[in-house]
Amino acid sequence: MKNNKTNFKNYLWILSILYLSLGLFNILFAWLGLICFLVPLIISAFNGGKKYCHSYCGRGQLLSILGDNLKLSRYKDMPRFLVSKHFRYGFLAFFMTMFIIMLFNTYLVFSGASNVKEVITLFWTFKLPWNWVNTSMTSPWIAQFAFGFYSMMVTSTLLGIITMILYKPRSWCIYCPMGTMTQLISKSKN
Ligand code: SF4
Repeated sequence: MKNNKTNFKNYLWILSILYLSLGLFNILFAWLGLICFLVPLIISAFNGGKKYCHSYCGRGQLLSILGDNLKLSRYKDMPRFLVSKHFRYGFLAFFMTMFIIMLFNTYLVFSGASNVKEVITLFWTFKLPWNWVNTSMTSPWIAQFAFGFYSMMVTSTLLGIITMILYKPRSWCIYCPMGTMTQLISKSKN
């Protein structure tokens, strides 16, 4: 029984790939990403510390596989400023600001003040037209949230892959907003 559980945990990286792939076919699957957003916070809030990072994070596993197993990482140390507290907390503040802006854009669509923007925004800057999926079966704000949230998930995955290649496999984990937030919650519990 214990072995089955261990095996299951080792394959959570597949869910990360599945999530990104499903979003390519239908943007509405982006909503599933909320699981990765909420579960780590809930685990930490219930005294689980960084258990999610250590045992259940598919993205962390995926970066390890790409960097360690497939040897795609250069295995260099990150520049000191990238591992500093200032950068970690600054990046968390930036990420949360972008998240709130994304929620506000969703609200504008919900209230009828704005139309759905069928684009994926990479690195909060580059807009890719993403209009091959018919989202008319759902409320416009639901589609807007999906576009915004999928943009954040793809961007953070790409940042993870870039820093995996440039530095060490799990370099993203040093400044990952979810990791920083679970750490802050854990500290506040001690
Ligand atoms: S720091 Fe982020 S990417 Fe790394 S294991 Fe934790 S949640 Fe996953």
